[in-house]
Amino acid sequence: MKPFNLSRSFDCVIVGGGHGGSQTAAALRQSGFTGSIALIGAEPEVPYDRPSLSKDYLAGKKSFDRMYLRPQDFWAAREVELLLGRHVSAVNPEARTVTTDRGECFTYGQLVWAAGGDPRKLTCPGKELTGVFYIRSKADCDALIDVLPDAQRIVIIGGGYIGLEAAAVFREIGKDVILVEALDRVLARVAGEPVSRFYENEHQAHGVDIRLNSSVASLDGTNGRVSSVVLVSGEAVAADIVVVGIGIIPSVGPLAAAGAEGANGIDVDAFCRTSLPDIYCIGDCARLQNGPGIRIESVQNATDQATTAAKAICGEFKAYDATPWFWSDQYDLKIQTVGLNCGFDSIVTRGDPATRSFSVIYLKNGAVLALDCINSPRDYVQGRKLVDNAARIDPAALADTSRQLKEIDLVMS
Ligand code: FAD
Repeated sequence: MKPFNLSRSFDCVIVGGGHGGSQTAAALRQSGFTGSIALIGAEPEVPYDRPSLSKDYLAGKKSFDRMYLRPQDFWAAREVELLLGRHVSAVNPEARTVTTDRGECFTYGQLVWAAGGDPRKLTCPGKELTGVFYIRSKADCDALIDVLPDAQRIVIIGGGYIGLEAAAVFREIGKDVILVEALDRVLARVAGEPVSRFYENEHQAHGVDIRLNSSVASLDGTNGRVSSVVLVSGEAVAADIVVVGIGIIPSVGPLAAAGAEGANGIDVDAFCRTSLPDIYCIGDCARLQNGPGIRIESVQNATDQATTAAKAICGEFKAYDATPWFWSDQYDLKIQTVGLNCGFDSIVTRGDPATRSFSVIYLKNGAVLALDCINSPRDYVQGRKLVDNAARIDPAALADTSRQLKEIDLVMS
């Protein structure tokens, strides 16, 4: 048998087979890149849609074969070599190589780091008990789905989007759900108070027991299996399983060890270039320096940064300036966000949350920064222009639902 070649060369090596990595390969070919491309991914699956994991896939409403980001024959047709099920453990920028946990060594001409993030893990006593789950990969989700039939009482730790989406799925399949959030409202890091309160009310109306201002002290177990979550208050909340959604840690260890600058992600310029020559970083693990200086965890960000990096590799330097957007599905509610609300100093609520269709508009110094649109796709579509133009509009006009946002824009700006 021919031995596997442990040392190979590619014109472009992409690390990470998720949203950003797969789009980089596609965009390279679209931009006319004719060199060899390797897409190295730790997960064994060909690139798939991650957001579905905590939504339709967890709910059993979508099979995995409907989650592929590209048709199965896409990669071979575009001569993208998929090297899956291997983890890049080292980067050597001088030798221009990456090494995998299988002992392979690949030389690169250009390197794109698109490794996303690992779920932030609990650090409290009991964290290692069985019955504690995270949702980041298909494997994580499958492990959780396997135990669901035997689990009735589910404690979710973390009131961010993933925790809330999982809560909605669990209620829809009849589980008892307690959601524990350390802060004084859900979605506190990403949304304004009206949005948080709306989702708290919705989840409570669907039977979720939400505990705000509740930090976890420890997990207790019997025979190595979790049986309760002990809160700092001393209360022990019974749990058959625990699902943790408390954010991610950017997966940048090998790149940071190689000397790429950045804390909490890798710093990149407007073309997604790192401080190391011919190494780009995109998606959840990249911290763009021309902008709000934060990492953005969204499909839009990963996809658009991938295109920016691919174009730069092909010699077309177009600074990343995409308008951020995001969505989340819970029950029959779709929230669509456009813009980033970082630093907002006032909020306008447009429409009545009691109707379950309304928008929250974030302003800074009177200019529109972002909108959260709940079951309100028209505001989402029309609000993008207000965000792009940093429109200054009388808050009373923004709140006036008798006029569409596009009309207000025309009249007032
Ligand atoms: P990923 O898609 O995570 O891909 C990174 C890949 O790199 C992974 O496959 C990982 O295994 C691999 N990898 C890591 N380290 C290495 C290594 N050293 N070597 C090789 N491979 C490595 N965003 C939205 O906009 N809307 C949503 O509704 C939404 N819902 C979500 C629901 C869930 C459950 C999750 C987990 C995320 C959700 N997101 C959502 C966020 C969105 O999925 C991410 O922002 C997006 O996937 C980021 O793309 P990425 O390419 O940066 O990382």
